[in-house]
Amino acid sequence: MEQSFVIDTGPDFRMQMLREGIKRLDAVLFTHEHKDHTAGLDDIRPFNFYQKADIPIFGRQAVLEQLQREFAYIFNDKRYPGVPQVACVEINHLAFQINGIGIIPIPVLHYKLPVLGFRIGDFSYITDANHIPEESYSLLEGTEILVLNALQKEPHISHFNLDQAIEQAQRIGAKKTYFTHIAHRLGKHGAVEKELPEGIFLAYDGLKLRV
Ligand SMILES: [Zn+2]
Ligand SMILES: [Zn+2]
Repeated sequence: MEQSFVIDTGPDFRMQMLREGIKRLDAVLFTHEHKDHTAGLDDIRPFNFYQKADIPIFGRQAVLEQLQREFAYIFNDKRYPGVPQVACVEINHLAFQINGIGIIPIPVLHYKLPVLGFRIGDFSYITDANHIPEESYSLLEGTEILVLNALQKEPHISHFNLDQAIEQAQRIGAKKTYFTHIAHRLGKHGAVEKELPEGIFLAYDGLKLRV
């Protein structure tokens, strides 16, 4: 059975689902509670409507608690008809499964905030990090495709900058690494990509990867 998982529901979630023609949503995995990763949660409504079921949302306890505060109407006992229907599933650093698909959380740090990356098969996705703890590197061994955050060229308090992201990508050693969570200040796509070592690329909206 083909399944669709979404990592984070950012403000563009609705447009992304429409753009990609996603007709079914089996789960949402949250990396962390920052608004640029959660703001689109309200737009899971159409999936509730079509699937006639709650959508499972996976996150650390702090993430689920923050969602319950910021989207209080979703979690109210007396819910207004038509509001999003979710089933919260608390996760931690331990591996888990969603409908038979194994997911390995990759703990990283976003300055002081714990964030989870996720490994699904030989695909690993790490956003919003500026530090990867030693224990997390072994979880990434053998990754073929890595997505990693690279914010800008200048140093940043809570994100890898370009040089740091390149260093991390080379240490992790995936066959291909794609940088994401790129700020406008990084420079133009074509120009920056020319500066990148072999096997490292800039991701872009609508990029499709096959592992
Ligand atoms: Zn963040
Ligand atoms: Zn972010």
